[in-house]
Amino acid sequence: LHRQKFSVGTVIFQEGDEGDCAYLIEEGRVEVCIAVDGEEQRVSLLGQGELIGEVALVDRQPRTATVRAVETAVLVPIRRDLVDELLEKTDPVIRHLLRVVLERFRTTQSGLSCRAGNGGNALLEYPRPLDHLHATATRQLALAEDIAHALTTDQFEMHYQPICVLQDGRVAGFEALIRWNHPREGMISPLDFLWLAEQTGQIRAIGMWTLERACRDWPVLRQATDHSSPFVSVNLSANQLTGDHFVHDVKLILERHHMTAEELKMELTETIIIGRPEIASQVLNNLIALGGTLALDDFGTGYSGLDYLQRYPIATVKIDRAFITPLLQTAPSLEIVNKTIELAHSLGMNVVAEGIENEEIRQKLTQLRCDFGQGWLFGKPLALDDIRKRL
Ligand code: C2E
Ligand code: CA
Ligand code: CA
Ligand code: CA
Repeated sequence: LHRQKFSVGTVIFQEGDEGDCAYLIEEGRVEVCIAVDGEEQRVSLLGQGELIGEVALVDRQPRTATVRAVETAVLVPIRRDLVDELLEKTDPVIRHLLRVVLERFRTTQSGLSCRAGNGGNALLEYPRPLDHLHATATRQLALAEDIAHALTTDQFEMHYQPICVLQDGRVAGFEALIRWNHPREGMISPLDFLWLAEQTGQIRAIGMWTLERACRDWPVLRQATDHSSPFVSVNLSANQLTGDHFVHDVKLILERHHMTAEELKMELTETIIIGRPEIASQVLNNLIALGGTLALDDFGTGYSGLDYLQRYPIATVKIDRAFITPLLQTAPSLEIVNKTIELAHSLGMNVVAEGIENEEIRQKLTQLRCDFGQGWLFGKPLALDDIRKRL
């Protein structure tokens, strides 16, 4: 498709036509008309730089108006398949909002253009596409609202799971894991809301809350450890690192709670570093300058972690549960775990195995000289009160 020239009076498209493109007006002017009570009425006059027929780019319904050249007009067609591709990559919630807005627009327009006989029932003319996307997106918007509310009404809780010395089971530290105690839905798993908070940017506020809470709870947690360099570990998310103040905020929180940077470990996944490498590298180097300790989380589940092992001074590698659970059943997982431990040790890093649920696996990992373990065998994540009771 190239530019198209329309002489005065030519119809560019007609109400009810199938439309698969929009037009950018490069030269000239066009009028937009709709039928009201069977009579055509001009609703607008558009000129250079303006877009016509754009509704067809987003949904596949017929044209809602007739457009005619009132001066010789040069138009650049914009094909729907091109926009489809862009829309595909758009956040589903935004895509949905766009559809809702368009739908409203069509309903209003068809309401205007209804002839008397039609009873003015615009909804009959344009049935609402109440599809799966609609339902999902609406639920997500509601969830995002709930998250905002949860932050201001103290619905989040922190639970702490022990990370133990594999050989003798002493508690070396705790991983802080967020819980959402929703007033109607009960406990919601972080996996069910953090991904959305990540998309909406709410994760930054949640992340600060998490850090603050873990550090506030540190005196109790420290008492529950039995190790020469005890720590509490918090999970960082991609969006947190893009904030301007992150490193500064961490510093303030540490000061406020009289903690050393070694006592606060920060867990991050490879995906975090991959998303925005420039930002990540700057923030991580600042964190390290502060004295912070980094752990590479979910090792082996993302991209190859080897690059990051050499690029950042990572203190700890956490091997994901996906490799630990089948450790005794499948030769490849045993080999991967074995080699990961060797590699980490040769680089001066220590290793935490995640998701240890039984004694046999613990023994195997001890044999492989893994340093620390985390999992139900040692303890499930507990509320601070429950940890305090056990002291
Ligand atoms: P993760 O960082 O890999 O955390 C370990 C997850 O494994 C936790 O799930 C923990 O409860 C679970 N787990 C620990 N031991 C065992 C075991 O022996 N068996 C089994 N089946 N599971 C075990 P949880 O608490 O549901 O957290 C899920 C994920 O959500 C975490 O995975 C982490 O990626 C994220 N997350 C949790 N809290 C936070 C937070 O405060 N901030 C951020 N950014 N992410 C968080
Ligand atoms: Ca983690
Ligand atoms: Ca993990
Ligand atoms: Ca994991």
